[in-house]
Amino acid sequence: MIFENSRSFACGLDEQDELRSFRNEFIMPVIDGRPQIYFLGNSLGLQPVRTQACLQQVLNKWANYGVEGFFMGEQPWLQYHDRLIEPLSKIVGARPHEVVVMNQLTVNLHLLLVSFYRPDNKRNRIICEAKAFPSDQYMLETHVKYCGFNPADVLIEVGPRPGEHTIRHEDILQAIQQHKDELALVLWGGLNYYTGQLFNMAAITKAAQAVGAKVGFDLAHAAGNIPLQLHNWNVDFAAWCSYKYMNSGPGGIGGAYIHERYHNDTALPRFAGWWGYDKASRFLMQKGFNPARSAEGWQLSTPSPLLYAAHKAALDIFMEAGADRLQKKRQLLNSWLWFLLDELNGQQREPVIEFITPRQESERGCQVSMLMLQQGKQVFDELARAGIIVDWREPNVIRLAPVPLYNTFEEVWQFTNILRQILQLQHA
Ligand SMILES: *Cc1c(COP(=O)(O)O)cnc(C)c1O
Repeated sequence: MIFENSRSFACGLDEQDELRSFRNEFIMPVIDGRPQIYFLGNSLGLQPVRTQACLQQVLNKWANYGVEGFFMGEQPWLQYHDRLIEPLSKIVGARPHEVVVMNQLTVNLHLLLVSFYRPDNKRNRIICEAKAFPSDQYMLETHVKYCGFNPADVLIEVGPRPGEHTIRHEDILQAIQQHKDELALVLWGGLNYYTGQLFNMAAITKAAQAVGAKVGFDLAHAAGNIPLQLHNWNVDFAAWCSYKYMNSGPGGIGGAYIHERYHNDTALPRFAGWWGYDKASRFLMQKGFNPARSAEGWQLSTPSPLLYAAHKAALDIFMEAGADRLQKKRQLLNSWLWFLLDELNGQQREPVIEFITPRQESERGCQVSMLMLQQGKQVFDELARAGIIVDWREPNVIRLAPVPLYNTFEEVWQFTNILRQILQLQHA
């Protein structure tokens, strides 16, 4: 499509947008009476209008039935999980029984490593992203120590080459080859939280498994953002949070994927609790752990129907919008943003922005990370004053992520227009 930099062109794109009514499904933030342009669906997705009613249903049921809410009424809490894994499995590209909704992301990564990081004296090394999200770093550091190894001996961090911002796939594959005899696990992010770089999960999985290692992905920034095919890619395990692109509320319930080939392997070590017990006999309260033969066998504790309800409300919107339409709009919205930013950057006397997100469509999702070359913090503060919610990551990066469910082409235009004015004032 040939774009034209004008508000009317933006409005034309909005008029043609098949998903434009979905914006009304969300509550747009208003600060001090002023509607905001919210570009942080990558950090905390907005609240769906219907979430409140769904939470209220759970509260009503609790009020009316007490503990019988697990078994009675229209939607017994015991069966709630089944209704979540249907839509979720479509979002992550898995079979429903390969998906479990439980805990939160970092907790789930620890639990999955119990099963899938089985170091011995020969094979104990883990390949991971350099400068991964801090929680992932702390998780790996402490988990490796817990297994009796020294993180410095075991962790192999692959990062960008000097002078570059993104990680080359060939370097990841090369590291896998180089350590093929000692490699126990590749734990990688689907999409990097800082640079917005999307990785080729299929290729990483294939390469790691070819040398006998297990492969897991942290999908915090990928789930609900880009199309995923975990089962077809043959990924061993994955985990994600639901509060970023999946709009399921702050601290919302997390999820995990475990390939079906592991479901009947009762010898696989795991940290168990009663909620992972075989469902038909869970309430017989017998001695000896007998796991459910699905990803649900990794659950430990009684889940919160309140968190389930918020998750379900948000997932339903995804299903109504449809994966294909979401993907199509994401691509167009992003191309529009890149077009406007490139034009703006090209018009400056000296470069002001360096994009650290890969330019190619196959290597990014909704997010664009801009390395600000001059007075970045002032630019960020001015954007905030103008009612634009983006974020600042030290030392000098502004991240933004217009999302297809609720952002408009006009908002993207307004953002770049305001950014242009801020830059003009700075350099006047
Ligand atoms: C957001 C995010 C987390 C957060 O983990 P929680 O356990 O949900 O707090 C972890 N890892 C990555 C890569 C993230 O982007």
